[in-house]
Amino acid sequence: MIELERPLDEIRGIGPRFLVKLEKLGIKSVKDLIWHFPTRYEDFSRVYPISELSDGQEATVRGKITEITGRRSFRRHLFIVEAIISDETDSIRAVWFNQPYIKNTLRPGRLANFSGKVAYGNGSIYLSNPTYELFTEEEETKHTARIVPVYPETRGLTSKGLRFLIKPVLDEIGHIPEPIPENIRESERLPEINEAIRNIHFPENFEDASLAKKRFAFEDLFFLGLMNESEKKRLAREKSLSVDVKEAGEILENLPFKLTESQKKSLDEILGDLQKIKPMNRLLQGDVGSGKTIIAATAAILTAKSGHQTAFMAPTEILARQHYRTFLKFFPEFEKGVALFTSGETRISYGHGLEAVSDKRKISREIAEGKIKVIIGTHALIQKNVDFKNLCLVIIDEQHRFGIEQRKHLISKNKAANGLVPHFFSMSATPIPRTLSLTIFGDLDISLITELPKNRKEIITKAVAPENRTKAYAFIKNQVKKGRQVFVICPRIEIPNPNNQIPNKSQIQNLEIKSVKEEYEKLSKKIFPELQVAMLHGRMKSGEKGKVMNDFSEKNIDVLITTSVVEVGVDIPNATIMMVEGAERFGLAQLYQFRGRVGRGEHQSFCFLFSDSESKLAAQRLKSVVEAKNGFELAEKDLMIRGPGEFLGVAQTGMPDIAMKALQNPELVGNARIAAAKILEKDPGLKKHPLLAERLRKFKKEIHPE
Ligand code: ADP
Ligand code: MG
Repeated sequence: MIELERPLDEIRGIGPRFLVKLEKLGIKSVKDLIWHFPTRYEDFSRVYPISELSDGQEATVRGKITEITGRRSFRRHLFIVEAIISDETDSIRAVWFNQPYIKNTLRPGRLANFSGKVAYGNGSIYLSNPTYELFTEEEETKHTARIVPVYPETRGLTSKGLRFLIKPVLDEIGHIPEPIPENIRESERLPEINEAIRNIHFPENFEDASLAKKRFAFEDLFFLGLMNESEKKRLAREKSLSVDVKEAGEILENLPFKLTESQKKSLDEILGDLQKIKPMNRLLQGDVGSGKTIIAATAAILTAKSGHQTAFMAPTEILARQHYRTFLKFFPEFEKGVALFTSGETRISYGHGLEAVSDKRKISREIAEGKIKVIIGTHALIQKNVDFKNLCLVIIDEQHRFGIEQRKHLISKNKAANGLVPHFFSMSATPIPRTLSLTIFGDLDISLITELPKNRKEIITKAVAPENRTKAYAFIKNQVKKGRQVFVICPRIEIPNPNNQIPNKSQIQNLEIKSVKEEYEKLSKKIFPELQVAMLHGRMKSGEKGKVMNDFSEKNIDVLITTSVVEVGVDIPNATIMMVEGAERFGLAQLYQFRGRVGRGEHQSFCFLFSDSESKLAAQRLKSVVEAKNGFELAEKDLMIRGPGEFLGVAQTGMPDIAMKALQNPELVGNARIAAAKILEKDPGLKKHPLLAERLRKFKKEIHPE
């Protein structure tokens, strides 16, 4: 019997050669191995009489080898093995290329199964490169004569190899305890775990396979639900400072504009939380330009007026500086002390024009004494040893999920000082569909800004057909002559990937850079030789990137060619043209975000989506971007079309793959969350569910490894 926790190097039959490859797939233990689920299946379940085979079919036959020969082909460097297979009905040729060892495994007289494609050549049909498996009455087949699993593979470890490794381990695995309580499993009609783990790898029919998948998806969603709910309950036991929000109306009256309805609603939700002594834990979502900063600033000002401190953190120094300027612009009289605190620059303002560069030590001291009430910096502000006097509110910009670790650090530090936990809210422009956010951010409350301020000019968006490319270039050239600037986004080049191999991060980056460089050559030499063209990509050093961005913002560059990783918060109001190459390869939400980089100034802006694809679906998708008024609606569509893994990137969410896929099934997501909430309602500490508590602990570790 084999235990799940056993490392694979202790398992007989898995040699060092395999261990290395398995590790590439993230597989180290027995559990990892049998939790390596197939992405799809091939149906070789029916064994055909040879006489019934026809050209083009995928099929399994069972027969005796009557002849086998190997030869080298002279023209090409190929080694060809040919065999004749016979059953009671007929015989057929099987052909393999470059697998000379087959000649020694398949001796004449052996009975075997052969699964593969029937092809036509030299006047007869034959089996081309079939998978084979010697047949004995006692042993179950793994590769043939059944529904066969196809796994995510890596170089040198094919699905066949994985089946070969997984099957014997699966056969000897001990009883796995079922973590999902029986009543839930029954009401969801989910198979039991031991049955499901067999069926997900070697199902007898497709229905069993899909039930097994559903079961594991439910399990992950259920544990995500437990994790989120218990985090919520834990936080509810903590205490925060309460903020007096009486003056909110007065602050808003003095702004140069009126808040939009959804800005008002979001601000109300945030202020409602701030008045309570239970910590706020909220996500404020709203499109680029929807006006999140002013909401953050209002919350910070009210907190300061109540005598408490706010830390406002942005992902980059540029953005932190921008926020600091926003404070000074909208609240010039505010004398409670606002500081900019980044590694490059430290400044303090006490209102009424009292604003100056200051040194770090002075600022740190004034923060510790509580003289400065609003501290604006980069995310690093938290790691630096800044001591606050009475930190009450933490705002995080452009990061939908603030690092659990960073937060823990901040909480424990603050608790040590005064026993209190600060209120938190983060702001994000990524439109995340509701099913997805309820699952990933289930422990957060969510506020949504669903509209843009009224004064915006609509960005003219066009899908450009290949025959209109020259016209588009001429138009762009003309705009640049008028003084405007252009972004060009290049897609990652895709290479055919027949074996489901997972490209690694640096391979992906290389492909992106290759496409940026090619586009740069083309545009700078052939299309726009008279313009200033530059490129920006992820492999450049941060100093180089900074210089390029600076040159672009100073208008020394007309056309900037870049990848999908254009820096967050990049704000170049004079850039009015967004050109996206290979637009069909990006997600809808991503395209929508690209478009949000323009349309920020007084000039009319344009977004051109170039596509080489002739597919109808691609055209439809681009059309929905052209027509899109609302990023959230679009995100929902995108989630349905591409699936959440593509949409957000699995790594970014820390979500188990199978749960990500299940997000396309909102009912399952909802049921799992409700089931988790119900259990915790009755048994908050999971004292009556020790197995569940134990598994939850492990699950948390897998999702947020420390
Ligand atoms: P984001 O949500 O992307 O962070 P910002 O907060 O930077 O957007 O706001 C973008 C611009 O819109 C800013 O110049 C801001 O002053 C302005 N703005 C915010 N709210 C309104 C409003 N209700 N009416 C008009 N302009 C607004
Ligand atoms: Mg912003």
